[in-house]
Amino acid sequence: DMEVAIKVVVVGNGAVGKSSMIQRYCKGVFTKDYKKTIGVDFLERQITVNDEDVRLMLWDTAGQEEFDAITKAYYRGAQACVLVFSTTDRNSYMAIDNWKEKIEAEVGDIPTVLVQNKIDLLEETVIKNEEAEGLAKRLKLRFYRASVKEDLNVTEGVFNTTSSNVSN
Ligand code: GDP
Ligand code: MG
Repeated sequence: DMEVAIKVVVVGNGAVGKSSMIQRYCKGVFTKDYKKTIGVDFLERQITVNDEDVRLMLWDTAGQEEFDAITKAYYRGAQACVLVFSTTDRNSYMAIDNWKEKIEAEVGDIPTVLVQNKIDLLEETVIKNEEAEGLAKRLKLRFYRASVKEDLNVTEGVFNTTSSNVSN
């Protein structure tokens, strides 16, 4: 039996919830006292798509995104991307175009989903719904509102789409 491994990069400004999202999907937990460095390059989760075993390797950063210091090695060979911004951080929303350009420059046009995380904090939102939807439409990306904390739209939304995108 051939096993397929897919590298997925999770990209966006610091503190939007990338590490938490990867942990949630791969380990099923949400830890509030997060550690900046999880100490590994990626976490993985085994899934089955069309009767085939697929290993999704979710690549995390160790905080380098805050210093604009992500290396080429992070992007190398990526086959899918999850672009994340936060409901409570306008800069993270404004930065999405920039992140998308970087990814394209490194790996070309790969299947990508756009995620507005921390939707549990909707009452504190600094991004209008139509702004987020406009961004997704302009970039032609599938868009999810998610809460890693409340386990909303992570496994069933973001990564369900990501895995079907890469397995055809
Ligand atoms: P990263 O820098 O993008 O990897 O972000 P982290 O995963 O480290 O998360 C930054 C902070 O946001 C941590 O305190 C998390 O507990 C918190 N966080 C992550 N996801 C959510 C969410 O969906 N809702 C809320 N309220 N907090 C979240
Ligand atoms: Mg992180």
